[in-house]
Amino acid sequence: MIEDKNPQRTPVEQLGEFGLIDFLTSQVALQHESSILGIGDDAAIIHSKDHTVITTDMLVEGVHFDLSYVPLKHLGYKAVMVNLSDVYAMNAIASQITVSIAISSRFPVEAVKELYDGIHLACKTYSVDLIGGDTTSSTSGLIISVTAIGHQKEEKIIKRDGASDGDLLVVSGDIGAAYMGLQILEREKAVYQANPNNQPDIESYSYLLERQLKPEARKDIPELLEQLEVTPTSMIDISDGLSSEVIHLCKNSNVGMKIYEDKLPLDPTVITSCEEFNLDSTTIALSGGEDYELLFTVKQEDFPKIKANPSLSIIGHAVPENEGIHLITRAGEQIPIKAMGWNSFKE
Ligand code: ADP
Ligand code: MG
Repeated sequence: MIEDKNPQRTPVEQLGEFGLIDFLTSQVALQHESSILGIGDDAAIIHSKDHTVITTDMLVEGVHFDLSYVPLKHLGYKAVMVNLSDVYAMNAIASQITVSIAISSRFPVEAVKELYDGIHLACKTYSVDLIGGDTTSSTSGLIISVTAIGHQKEEKIIKRDGASDGDLLVVSGDIGAAYMGLQILEREKAVYQANPNNQPDIESYSYLLERQLKPEARKDIPELLEQLEVTPTSMIDISDGLSSEVIHLCKNSNVGMKIYEDKLPLDPTVITSCEEFNLDSTTIALSGGEDYELLFTVKQEDFPKIKANPSLSIIGHAVPENEGIHLITRAGEQIPIKAMGWNSFKE
């Protein structure tokens, strides 16, 4: 599916490990005051008077991505996004990342450069500094592990454990689109494998593909909430799907939750593609994953400040823990939300 735009293939051995690191990172200029020392010594140095948050996520070829349809530049960008999303979910300001890669010998320098083009673009767009990493070889595909560091005043950090009975449950953006983007990529891959001359029909799905291939971490949401003078009581990012993240929030906060099916924010293309794939759009919204939206609770008194905001949807409210976690369907039925995803309990 992806044309080889890089006919030039320089073997990594030609540059050597240090030559490669230099080639990939020589353009890095540190932007953050808290970045004291970057790439080039045994360790980087950061300093901040605030608290430091730190998070790591690893992406493994064949488990988290398929290089037959994921362009390397997008992969690099996404590997940074999934980590920044966790920093923003703590209400912290992301400031540094480290990037560790294991690459197989079939990877030419040009391919690693594409990966780093995506990483550098993410750093620039989100204003974080690449301050270090590790480079090694792999006998079984590409592995990319990013660590993100952020800072925030102690009292402003928001964890998963602060929700209480009556709080409103809010989600940013819309959900389910990244999963449908993956369905489309998988389908087009199968079509292509059957007949490489078939042109993939992906024009009408551009939003879904973008959500899968080029997710954006919601740096803007904590900023928006600050402007609105709303402090969430608890917060988490949606990487594994709404239902599993809601369960995490509820477990950590010792509350139950009611979520309303008719309040779930779905892009129209999610609904049409679900019809096409014969999938239930509510199930996809609850269990799809990879949306990288923020899910948080706010005090009821904050309702007027957020109700009309196009970036925020109020989808439910917290109830006492012993009432459990339920989806209230359009028909008014209460369906328990389970960790495995709502769908597996539907029948
Ligand atoms: P050491 O042998 O001391 O671990 P390395 O040779 O692995 O050092 O790395 C040299 C420098 O380059 C260090 O500052 C390290 O953080 C950085 N570095 C190594 N690999 C990468 C990478 N893939 N991306 C960014 N920085 C890297
Ligand atoms: Mg090292």
